[in-house]
Amino acid sequence: WEQQFLPPPLQLDDRARAIKIDSRLAGLMLCGATLRRVGEVFSREIENGLRERPSSLQMENTYVPELPDGTEEGVFLALDLGGTNFRVLLLELQAGQLVREDVKQYHISDALRLGPGEDLFNFLADCVQDFLRTEGMENDELSLGFTFSFPMKQHSISSGELITWTKSFKCGGMEGVDVAALLQRCLHARGLRVTVQVLLNDTTGTLVAGAQLDPAVVIGVIMGTGSNGCYMERAERVQHWEAAHERVQDVCVDIEWGAFGDNGCLSFLRTEFDKEVDDNSLLATSFTFEKYIGGKYLGELLCAVLSGLARDGLFPAIPARGSLLSAHVSLFEEENVAGVCSRTAEALRDACGRAVSRHDALVAQHVARVISNRAAQLVSVCIATLLRRMSRAHVSVAVDGSVFKRHPRIRTLMERYIALLAPNHKFSLLGAEDGSGKGSALTAAIAARIAARSL
Ligand code: BGC
Ligand code: MG
Repeated sequence: WEQQFLPPPLQLDDRARAIKIDSRLAGLMLCGATLRRVGEVFSREIENGLRERPSSLQMENTYVPELPDGTEEGVFLALDLGGTNFRVLLLELQAGQLVREDVKQYHISDALRLGPGEDLFNFLADCVQDFLRTEGMENDELSLGFTFSFPMKQHSISSGELITWTKSFKCGGMEGVDVAALLQRCLHARGLRVTVQVLLNDTTGTLVAGAQLDPAVVIGVIMGTGSNGCYMERAERVQHWEAAHERVQDVCVDIEWGAFGDNGCLSFLRTEFDKEVDDNSLLATSFTFEKYIGGKYLGELLCAVLSGLARDGLFPAIPARGSLLSAHVSLFEEENVAGVCSRTAEALRDACGRAVSRHDALVAQHVARVISNRAAQLVSVCIATLLRRMSRAHVSVAVDGSVFKRHPRIRTLMERYIALLAPNHKFSLLGAEDGSGKGSALTAAIAARIAARSL
């Protein structure tokens, strides 16, 4: 059992070099016992979070109490903020099915991502106005689902305060601000007749969109720029429940596992390479678990490890910071699967500013494999822990995000590790595209249904 977690050792003609490299990488290779320990800590943090005891897991009540039942109808706007692209969407649902989707993508400049929050939200409202003009709908009354992929303190299905920025956003003066109310003000100020009906996280959108495809979906996972998961929890286990909301049977809980271990409970996992990635990140010491998994960081981790090997004379040069992206991790893995290395060598030459040998390319592919393996293991521990906690006959996990979609090995690795870590639980991974768009519209329709019921 233990052996099945370790990536194969590096194979080089120079045996001594291969052994030295693998010993430098040892901290990134997690054995079954370590992963079990991570799972135990995760379980404990889940319980603490749900009970509002100190925990690194937010375990946020999203107030989404039910999943699609096939009656969702209407035309909705959706905003998707937080990943690689900012998008405005117009979606039409008929009997739960998406029958129309118009999308426009807008570029968010560094100045907006790092400047005052008011500027960012004014820009979002400008984009909505621009989009509605193109659609010829500027005067229409519309409901909007706001997919805001950051940790929030939610007070209802349509309101929530930003807790902290993550990934590549760091706008001033926004922590503790109700982002739905702010967006609503900016929309009204432009004379738009748009109502923010739901505020949701991208994992919630993914779960809801996935559940529309497969009723066994009760977990939503993002492996993209960042990483996170949500799941349907029994409402009685969720301590935080604000008065305006009726207590229901189940509710979607946004775990925010990107912050797992920020209280120190996972310090046994942290390597010197992780410390380097964290030190150089926009928000150091925050969302450290996400930095092991998220697409925003895998390239930097690859770069940090190769730099460490270079300092020890085990790799020819230090790659320039920022020159390796998660797309390179995927590319190196793709070539590794195919047993070739020409594009790997080319990318390394660009990153290092000098030619590298075929053996050096193999070393970089091995590093990509080791860090991908760890990312897959860590996300698998989280999913396996949820499967054990929920103990249902069969669970489908809806997964979205660029790493899941583009990394050639990640899905197979996750299937293997989840099965090893939760051997008595049947599961399947379901690629669920566009939770932030379709999931947002479906959630807005669910909210409308619930509101109509209580009239
Ligand atoms: C955010 C989560 C989000 C995840 C994936 C994290 O940085 O905190 O809310 O779900 O990224 O986008
Ligand atoms: Mg996204």
